[in-house]
Amino acid sequence: MALIPADIIDSRSISEVLKKSDPDEIYHLAAQSFVGASFDQPLYTSDITGFGTVRLLEEVKKYNKKIRIYQASSSEMYGDVKVKIKNEHTPFHPSSPYAIAKLYSYWMINLYREAYGMHASNGILFNHESPIRGLEFVTRKVSNGVAKISLGLSNNLKLGNLDAKRDWGYAPEYVEGMWMMLQQKNPDDYVLATNESHTIRELVDEACKVAGVSPSKITSTKENLRPFDVLDLKGDYTKAEKKLKWKPRTTFKKLVKIMVEEDIARWQRWLKGEQFPWDAATSGDDSYILSKRNRQDSE
Ligand code: GDP
Repeated sequence: MALIPADIIDSRSISEVLKKSDPDEIYHLAAQSFVGASFDQPLYTSDITGFGTVRLLEEVKKYNKKIRIYQASSSEMYGDVKVKIKNEHTPFHPSSPYAIAKLYSYWMINLYREAYGMHASNGILFNHESPIRGLEFVTRKVSNGVAKISLGLSNNLKLGNLDAKRDWGYAPEYVEGMWMMLQQKNPDDYVLATNESHTIRELVDEACKVAGVSPSKITSTKENLRPFDVLDLKGDYTKAEKKLKWKPRTTFKKLVKIMVEEDIARWQRWLKGEQFPWDAATSGDDSYILSKRNRQDSE
């Protein structure tokens, strides 16, 4: 397997990568995918997350219309719609620049499917998490935060809206679902979710239980609130179960346990001197935690 760079903002690079790799299937996950940042960067988000999909579709249409395409749609497209459990027939009411850009991509996939007969599918995935989730997302922010508190590397964690509810599943299972969509004879749109939603507060309580930390160390601050927040997202995966035979297997509690234990293990390795290739050791309070590691070194 080779890594070939391309940029979703640059049609020519997409065309080049198609020629070099001549793929049978494309999994289009490229996006500015952080809802919070999309309020500060609405144009950038529209260009990457919205027009990026059309650049890809246009290049695939020119190169080989038979290539199968998966497009990462998002539960955020439902936004503030007043329907408790969302499925493929629920109307959309996007409530952020990110969600609006994703909805544009969703309809473009539908259009290229109908107008040009392309095998293009949308996966409407509810939040899917794992230990490699970015630290800007709440699950990882919590797992990483409580891990640091449990090891004495930090004293507190500041979050935003603790009452919002999300339907969190385990990302590897959702990737299997993406693959299953492209193995179908006909392209279609599918919801992948768990049929359950939990508040951020429940996430915090569960994570604290796993890490042995008092939930009183986790507080909400105004700076972390969004201009507009989607309060409850819960998805119905009945269609995926029927047609793809897909079903989530990892429970909410298990997911939190996997993430917290992995972050604790990472920080333990870090205390022993291991360098991190990505994010965990560079999250803001470096000088304080570095002094902790140095102290351990000299003990
Ligand atoms: P999203 O559903 O794609 O926006 O995923 P996030 O993980 O970024 O946010 C999920 C929910 O957690 C939203 O309702 C946020 O408002 C809420 N939340 C509460 N505190 C925080 C925080 O400190 N960071 C983030 N990212 N979200 C937070």
